[in-house]
Amino acid sequence: MSVIFGPVCSRRFGASLGIDLSASLKQCNFDCLYCELTPAKAIRHQHDVTPVDTIVADLRSALREHPSLDVITITANGEPTMYPHLDELIDRIDGIKGEIQTLILSNSANLSDENVFNTLLKLDQVKLSLDAARPATFKKIDRPAEGIDIGRIIDAIERFSHRFSGKLFIEILFVKGVNDASEEIEALNNALRNVRCDRIDIGTIDRPPAYPVEGLSFGELHAIAHRFDPALPIHIVSRTHASAQPGSYSDEEILTTLDKRPLTQDDMNALFDDASQTRFQKLCNEGRIGKIERSNVIFYLPAKNIERKRSK
Ligand code: SF4
Repeated sequence: MSVIFGPVCSRRFGASLGIDLSASLKQCNFDCLYCELTPAKAIRHQHDVTPVDTIVADLRSALREHPSLDVITITANGEPTMYPHLDELIDRIDGIKGEIQTLILSNSANLSDENVFNTLLKLDQVKLSLDAARPATFKKIDRPAEGIDIGRIIDAIERFSHRFSGKLFIEILFVKGVNDASEEIEALNNALRNVRCDRIDIGTIDRPPAYPVEGLSFGELHAIAHRFDPALPIHIVSRTHASAQPGSYSDEEILTTLDKRPLTQDDMNALFDDASQTRFQKLCNEGRIGKIERSNVIFYLPAKNIERKRSK
C-alpha cells in the first residue's frame, strides 16, 4: 500500500502531498472518541513499520509527478511521531523537497519525549492537537495509552512553542458534553496563555466518529471562541455540517462582534444574513474594517485593532 496520498488542496495549508506513516492499519497512542478511523486500543509503539527507503522512493516519484506543491504533510492512520525512524525520514525529505514546506499533524502525546521534541524542531510547520487541559477530560476524550500525562504534554507544547522557528498551529476539537463546558475552556485558556503560535484552530466532528458522540453547531463554536482570551489567535474551522441561522447585525453589532473576535469570510457567511453582509462590505469600503493574514487565512477586524493584535 502506498504511503503517499494526494495532493489535496487544503484551505489552511495549500496544495499538500501526504505521507501516511501507518498506511495499512491504525497505530495510535490515543483512541479518541471522535476519531474517523475505527476504534482501536491505544498503543505506545508501532509494530508495523514502513522502511524509510520505501517512503523516500515513493516520495521522489510523487514529487516528479506533482512539482507544484506548497507542503508535504506527514501524517498517519494514527500518530506519526510513533514512527521510529521519523528523525532520519525528515532529514531525507529535507534533502529532496526543495522549496516545499514540511508539516506534521501530531496529537502532541510524544512531544514530552526529547527525541521527538528535537525532531519536530526540524519541520517548517507543526500542528499539535490539544483537546483538553484537565486530566479527567483528557482521558475521556482522547483515551490515551497508559502513562501519557496531559500536564507533561502542556508543558512540552509551551516549551516547544518558544523554541520552534517555523509555523506552529494548535488544534482543539470540541465534542458536545465532553470538553465544551466553561471550566474546560478556562483550563485550555490557562494552558495556552503562554504558548506562542500562529493560529489556534477550533473545530468539531465533521466525519462519522469512532464512538457515539456529537459535534457542536457553528453557533456553539462561535460562543466558545468568545470565551477564550482575546489575545489568543483563535480561528473557527468551518465544517460542512456545522449550521447556524444567519442573523441580522447592525453596523455597531458587526464592529463589536469583530472587536471581540476577528472572523473569516466563512465565519461571516454563517453568522450574517444578506443585509448584514452588505453592511459589512460598506464598513470595509469605508475603511472601518480591515483584514490581516495569519498563515493562509484572512481575518477581518476593526481597522483600529490591527496594530493591537498579537502576532508571533
Ligand atoms: S489521535 Fe488521531 S488517529 Fe489517533 S485516535 Fe485520535 S483522532 Fe484517531
